[in-house]
Amino acid sequence: MDAELLLGHVLGLSRAGLITADDVDDGAARRFTALVDQRADRVPLQHLTGRAPFRQLELAVGPGVFVPRPETELLAGWVLERLSGLEGPVVVDLGAGSGALALSIAHEHPGARVTAVERDPGAIEWTRHNAGLRAAAGDTPLEVVSGDMTDPGLLRDLDGIVDVVVSNPPYVPDDARVPQEVADHDPPLALWGGPDGLDVVRGLLVTAARLLVPGGWLGIEHADQQGESLPALVRAHGGFTDVADHRDLAGRPRFTTARRAS
Ligand code: GLN
Repeated sequence: MDAELLLGHVLGLSRAGLITADDVDDGAARRFTALVDQRADRVPLQHLTGRAPFRQLELAVGPGVFVPRPETELLAGWVLERLSGLEGPVVVDLGAGSGALALSIAHEHPGARVTAVERDPGAIEWTRHNAGLRAAAGDTPLEVVSGDMTDPGLLRDLDGIVDVVVSNPPYVPDDARVPQEVADHDPPLALWGGPDGLDVVRGLLVTAARLLVPGGWLGIEHADQQGESLPALVRAHGGFTDVADHRDLAGRPRFTTARRAS
């Protein structure tokens, strides 16, 4: 399937279009072969095409930014359900990377005031780039902020007024094995979360509790092995109610949600 997608990329055709294409010139054939070789060397497909689909958008991606994953689309969907009916809600995406979550929310809930926070100087270039592309396409512009989600001084102007805090934080335990594509091409700052993978999440909970309006919602993606430990951490924090865990389409525990206590 990746080979087919790469051929479509070289020819500017959809997968359906490939079925009826009858000729490939030598230049395209050479470019295709070179891309397949790189893919066989485990360069992510999305780095070769420079694009990653996410819900209704196509994000620009490449070296330096975490490639958005389809599992995370569900978390965006959950946020959009929480926002339904709200006018001009305030949303914060902590650890925005390519901007997939923040930009999908801005695109699908026009009028939302979305702030995207990213600490990685390489990744934030991609956040800004994608935010610029989406603003040019007519979506409400994001506020992109360079900062660390565990910093007590972060976004003080939004203290107590945020309707939803969402995050796909780095949550991979330091001793976990990840596929070679991931280890070699996704930025380490987007992946590794300390011995149990939850180091960044501990700081994130403090920031989220400070930013959220009473009754405001928090949604955090996690690893499939954290379907009990992450909800337990949120309960132990004390500032949240309605702690729930959600599964992805493959039935794996995927994200935890909670509500800021009043
Ligand atoms: N799900 C990611 C992976 O495929 C990890 C993402 C993260 O730590 N936020 O490795």
